[in-house]
Amino acid sequence: NIELSHNLIDLGIIKYNLPSRRKNTHKGNYGKANIIAGSSGMTGAAILTCKSALRTGLGLLRLYIGESLNHIVKTSIPEIITVPLREIRKGVIGINHIDRIISDTKEASVLTIGPGCGNTAEVSEIIKQVIANVEVPIILDADGLNGLSKNIEWLSEKKTKIIITPHIGEMSRLTGIEIEEIQENLIKVARDFSQNWGVIVVLKGASTIIASPEGEVFINIKGNPGMATAGSGDVLTGIITGLVAQGLDPLEAAVTGVYIHGVTGDRVARDKGEYGLLAGDMVECIAYTIKDIV
Ligand code: AMP
Ligand code: MG
Repeated sequence: NIELSHNLIDLGIIKYNLPSRRKNTHKGNYGKANIIAGSSGMTGAAILTCKSALRTGLGLLRLYIGESLNHIVKTSIPEIITVPLREIRKGVIGINHIDRIISDTKEASVLTIGPGCGNTAEVSEIIKQVIANVEVPIILDADGLNGLSKNIEWLSEKKTKIIITPHIGEMSRLTGIEIEEIQENLIKVARDFSQNWGVIVVLKGASTIIASPEGEVFINIKGNPGMATAGSGDVLTGIITGLVAQGLDPLEAAVTGVYIHGVTGDRVARDKGEYGLLAGDMVECIAYTIKDIV
């Protein structure tokens, strides 16, 4: 069985990877994450991602959002800084903001793009420019990946480590491989993509595969079908963002984040069952998962 030759993620690795909280520190020591997420009708994705990043221990978070949506986000997460941007149409920010987005990353530890951004030409253009210019680690999820699937060759311009977090449908759009074929070859698909394009792949599903460009593969078996629910992936993206921002190497952050996400889902399911599990319940439970690990 091919899977036996790969690393199952366990608590030992996770404990070792988690950033420590030291006495003589301030919020600047726990990272600054810049996030582009949300659009009309999908501000919830931005909120879930941002809250999850903060619940993971992140110091400072800045969210870029269309100005008409700013108040929605601000009222539900007082802890974040928003950057309300002039819109090209309701809820959609355009490529005209790209210089600011790129230059702001000089002060940031990570840039995350995608949850609820909308599958639009504007997002694609932003993705292309971000990949070619940003030097801090980049995390691409959801519509960030839909944007990238317009031209996967943009990845060859990258200047930094990139984590992508596709579910199988997004992986199919990125690669052109049929969903059934991906399902039967999860490890191979993740590893090939990772090695061909030099990015860390988090291929999400009932079990999640993490593959590194160096050929390492990790398998997560935590989690449960209750997590097959709207917003679940946005929570994972927030957790990984928070970990990268706190200085974990992106591969360690991906492995650790996937584990924390799965264990958190299991905790919620133990309490509420799998049917009523909401992504928002996971957000509120991240703190307890981490509290028990450290
Ligand atoms: P997304 O489709 O982007 O919302 O991501 C869904 C998240 O929930 C991923 O992290 C999946 O690994 C996780 N998930 C979905 N279904 C299951 C399942 N049946 N068992 C365990 N985890 C799951
Ligand atoms: Mg998703």
